[in-house]
Amino acid sequence: MENLLEVRNLKKSFGKLCVLEDISFNVEKGKVVAIIGPSGSGKSTLLRCLTQLERADSGEVTVCGEEMLTKDGYRDAKTLREIRLKTGLVFQNFNLFPHFSVLRNITEAPVRVLKRGKAEAKQNAMELLKKMGLETKADSYPCELSGGQQQRVAIARALATDPEIIYFDEPTSALDPELTGEVLSVMRKLAEEGMTMLVVTHEMGFARNVSSKTVFMENGVVVEQAPSQQFFASPKEERTRAFLRRIAHTE
Ligand code: ADP
Ligand code: MG
Repeated sequence: MENLLEVRNLKKSFGKLCVLEDISFNVEKGKVVAIIGPSGSGKSTLLRCLTQLERADSGEVTVCGEEMLTKDGYRDAKTLREIRLKTGLVFQNFNLFPHFSVLRNITEAPVRVLKRGKAEAKQNAMELLKKMGLETKADSYPCELSGGQQQRVAIARALATDPEIIYFDEPTSALDPELTGEVLSVMRKLAEEGMTMLVVTHEMGFARNVSSKTVFMENGVVVEQAPSQQFFASPKEERTRAFLRRIAHTE
């Protein structure tokens, strides 16, 4: 099976603070991989390194068959840009442009970055909004939408550039509990359509039932990774079992 993401021995420190000590895992094409772990374990930093918002110190990263970071360092700017265009990112706090309409939020990157025609970008955006159940919200502004609606717009925006892989950083953790379901259900739909996704999440039900593999991170290392059914049915490491017990008590 082809890997769309390969991460080997990734390391990242902020000054003296070592946040990613040694991270290795793969994401196969068409699969969903969940990353779970306590707050402060480096999950957001990992996604920020993989999406080039942050520079890792060392390691090897290959995205869609293209080396991004090698033993000799980062590739040239042109290659890095090409890789960036193949990936999408959905943040915890939506990060929509507040002064743009929903439609413009979605068409901005296709028009400005990919130089697509406005009419084509608009038509594609309307199709994405329909898929997200938001076709009536095209002319609204982000502040007029609920958190769940804003996050679905953010997912439509990430899809608008036709990425091969989408990264999600705790996409439901800023939402009221009654709104998480609508976001998880569009993510489940994307998974069923074969979208490749790497999802940092606290939603154990999503990790267990939608992702094919779960990676447990703690203190900058991968403690355990396994096919999700197996991971939750019989975690091997005591640290994994302790984390799952803690999570079960707080839910
Ligand atoms: P998680 O997403 O798992 O909660 P983070 O990746 O956000 O973890 O943070 C891991 C650690 O890195 C934390 O101790 C955090 O304070 C630190 N950290 C994150 N970003 C920075 C930064 N830009 N500068 C310094 N420390 C940072
Ligand atoms: Mg985080």
